[in-house]
Formats: sequence, C-alpha cells, structure tokens
Amino acid sequence: RLIVFEGGEGAGKTTQLRRSHDWLQASDLGQQLQASGRVTAVMLTREPGGTDVCREIRELLLHPKSIEEEICDRTELLLYAADRAQHIDAYLKPYLEQGALILCDRFTDSTVAYQGYGRGLDLPLIHQLNQIATNGLTSDLTLWLDLDVEVGLSRTQKRGDSDRMEKNALAFHQRVRQGFQTLAHEHPQRITRIDATPDEDMVFDSIKVTLTQHLAN
Ligand code: C5P
Ligand code: MG
Repeated sequence: RLIVFEGGEGAGKTTQLRRSHDWLQASDLGQQLQASGRVTAVMLTREPGGTDVCREIRELLLHPKSIEEEICDRTELLLYAADRAQHIDAYLKPYLEQGALILCDRFTDSTVAYQGYGRGLDLPLIHQLNQIATNGLTSDLTLWLDLDVEVGLSRTQKRGDSDRMEKNALAFHQRVRQGFQTLAHEHPQRITRIDATPDEDMVFDSIKVTLTQHLAN
C-alpha cells in the first residue's frame, strides 16, 4: 500500500510523516497489520530524493550550482518526472510488491499543483507525463495537509528553509493551494483533506483517524 502526504510549504508534512511512521511501527494497529502478514514493513520515503539517483536529481532541482542559469519550467517538470520514474522502479514498486506499507512525502499531485497550477504548464501534458513516470502506479490514500499560504510561508521562513526561495511569491503558492483544492475535489475517494492549522498534536490526531479508517479496509 502506498500512502502519500501532500501539501504546500510549511504544512508540516515531514513532521507528520515521521510521526505517522513511528506510530504505525509501534501502535497495536501497526503490530496487528504486521503480525497478520498484511503488511511486511512500514517504510518512509520522499519525492524528490527517494533513492541515490533521485537525491542527485533533488540537488539539481533544489540547490542548483549555477547562479547565472535558471532551470526553466519545462526542465523542472521533466526532472520531477525523472525523479518519480526512478523512485518507482528502483524503490516503490519492488517494496510494494513485497507487501510493504510505504509512506511517501509528495507524489504526482505535487507536480500538478506546482508545475501545473503554480507554473502554468499545460495540465493534460502533465497528466500524460505523470502516466509515463508512474507507469500507472497510484497512491491508495493521499493526505493533503492544507494550510493558509501566508501561515505556511512564515513557518518555513522561521525554520530558515533556503530551497529555491525566489519562488516564495505569495501568488505562486496560492495557485499551488488552489491546485491541491481542485485535485481533492476531483478525487474525493483518494484524497483526504487534513486541516494543518491547529498545533502538531491535533493535526496528528486527525491523521491517525484517517489512517485507522483506511487501514481497517
Ligand atoms: O517536500 P519539500 O517541502 O522538501 O519540497 C522541497 C521544495 O520543492 C519545496 O520548496 C517545493 O516548493 C518544491 N517542489 C516543487 N514542485 C514539486 C515538488 C516540490 O516546486 N513538484
Ligand atoms: Mg518537508
């Protein structure tokens, strides 16, 4: 099973993913799933950067060495797709086939939201590219951690994130959020919205409810 965490900047995906992973390892639910053989392992990964090759692509995307030449939008789109194709073939697919439960930080919806809604690249083209990159693999459940854009950006500024800061235009991230909103509307079965406004513990409580419901089936 593949469970994806999505969301804009500062929504707390990484923190909540770690907590979910630890909880699934240690909780009665996690123990039961593993004892019954329904789940062979609980694993944590991310995009971009889930394998060695993917980490090289992540560096290229988030910390490009050239200060004169910008990565153009189509290049960025293709690099995210390359990262995903590699991540799926070298990591996700083999472990899913072995029966792992994998929690993944970002997946196809981020490409639609950031490169599609954010950068304005053609949505049908992105959809096609996602098909090529995933080879048909979709998430079983996607948790969208939704947060007011200004609140999210101020959280990342506090922790001093320096990834591609030139993108921190409010309008860009507002379009990204609209993208996630539209996706959640189009895929109500797969995508669950989690309000990421409250404190960390409360957000984690809502996530546990959703995970418990999903894993009961
Ligand atoms: O997941 P994380 O917050 O580490 O993502 C790193 C950066 O990559 C973020 O700043 C996000 O804006 C950017 N990103 C992007 N397009 C994607 C996925 C992530 O611009 N498809
Ligand atoms: Mg993060």
